Amino acid sequence: MVIAIDGPGGVGKSTVARRVAAAIGASYLNTGAYYRAATIAALDAGAPLDDPEAVTAAVAAAEYAFVGEHMLLDGRDVSERSRSPEVTGAVSIVSAIPGVRALMVACQRRWVAERGGRAVVEGRDIGTVVFPDAAVKVFLTASETERARRRAGDREAAGLDVGSIAEALRRRDHIDSTRETSPLTAADDAVTIDTTTYGAEAVIAIVLGLVDPA
Ligand code: C5P
Repeated sequence: MVIAIDGPGGVGKSTVARRVAAAIGASYLNTGAYYRAATIAALDAGAPLDDPEAVTAAVAAAEYAFVGEHMLLDGRDVSERSRSPEVTGAVSIVSAIPGVRALMVACQRRWVAERGGRAVVEGRDIGTVVFPDAAVKVFLTASETERARRRAGDREAAGLDVGSIAEALRRRDHIDSTRETSPLTAADDAVTIDTTTYGAEAVIAIVLGLVDPA
């Protein structure tokens, strides 16, 4: 049973997905970690980001593993670096490349299959593309101001002002929502929850209410 949690940056997907997974005894997969690692692979290989073939070749040459919420790239833990402004600023460009998406989607499906198909998976295209048959599909939204405020509370955002966080989120949302391959959008059969005025506990309760206990 797959539970898909999609939505834009800063909306609280990780908090909700992690907690729902723990509550039902399922594995938790953060697919954004793959795109961030792919971005590091491209940057380290010196692939020009405006050259889709070079980026795809660099991404294909690396190995990816998501282990205990740590992202390993060729066996190195890149979790910390993957949240850096350098990577966050480039990830939407890399993840818009169809060849990169095909590689990452295959890794993500394999990860879930290896865990018996029982996982809570968060991302942008989980309910639409990666697991279109997911048992539960949730699309989280929140106002831009609220998402910037939430992101400002994250460890990696320490020292950044809310205005620049909002600007970076807006840029990333725009690229993610307007790309041709797997744009950020709610699946037709997703339950959309506007979390602007909800705390995490309330959202987690709503999502758990959608999960069939059987
Ligand atoms: O979730 P997170 O903010 O870490 O994702 C980083 C970026 O990875 C997103 O802005 C998006 O460009 C890309 N992404 C994606 N598809 C996913 C997950 C993330 O394109 N399923």
